[in-house]
Amino acid sequence: MQLQWTVGSVAITSFPESETPTSPRFLFRDLAKAGVLERAEAAPWLRPHFVSKDGYLLQKIQCLVIEAGDHRIAVDTCVGNDKSRNNELWHHLQGPFLDDLTGAGYGPETFTHVICTHLHVDHVGWNTRLIDGEWVPTFPNAAYLFVDAEYEHWKSEPGLFDGEDVFGDSVAPIVDAGLAEIVPPDHRVSDEVSFQATVGHTPGHISVVVESDGERAIITGDMVHSPLQLADPELSSMFDTDSDQARATRKAVFPDWADGETLVIGTHFGSPTAGTLRPDGNGYRLDV
Ligand SMILES: [Zn+2]
Repeated sequence: MQLQWTVGSVAITSFPESETPTSPRFLFRDLAKAGVLERAEAAPWLRPHFVSKDGYLLQKIQCLVIEAGDHRIAVDTCVGNDKSRNNELWHHLQGPFLDDLTGAGYGPETFTHVICTHLHVDHVGWNTRLIDGEWVPTFPNAAYLFVDAEYEHWKSEPGLFDGEDVFGDSVAPIVDAGLAEIVPPDHRVSDEVSFQATVGHTPGHISVVVESDGERAIITGDMVHSPLQLADPELSSMFDTDSDQARATRKAVFPDWADGETLVIGTHFGSPTAGTLRPDGNGYRLDV
């Protein structure tokens, strides 16, 4: 089932690339499945959508498409096909993502913008695709928006995992093709779509704010990887570049998002992926 939400006159549609139970140790080094089940005991809303019976995290990798007036915007472009990747699940992937997108009436040439909440491997993959041995922009008519601090950081960093060149195959070709726009972390794309700086997971990480007709939605990006971190904002993912800053960011923004009205769409949250946030105990709960 395809997930779609409306925010005033704006539509947001989910195009998942993969949806899989994930070992908690992949994201949280010290958290075993038994620990996840304890947390789900204390925050029963986590089940059944976000934590499985046996303590796996129910996560997905998805592209969220925003349609706002004349703008058609892809937010985060997943892992991509044909990329050489350290993670064997992602290595030389041959998935139907682009066919699914095109088949649903969202041909890549129809997009006006691509937003990457940050430049990690699972957020930039479909920025490019392999044609005749070259990485070419998948969305040939789009402006690709990269946040300045994020772009500068990964340009000079070797990347998250050994043996892969995420920047080289998924970011640099966009710049070379003249499609990149380097923008500040408070960038506004249109009347309805703007960025909110949510740094810590990475140095230039942003979340995407959608506002229309008095309604609001947030696309989190990876400032919160799993709903476990809503229940416990102290919990930092091992992929956070600066875990103290990431924690401070969660504590700073969740109170604003937790008004019971804002639609919070978790970039990696398993289906149904979105809900409204409310204070609950020492953290928050997502009502789906
Ligand atoms: Zn991610």
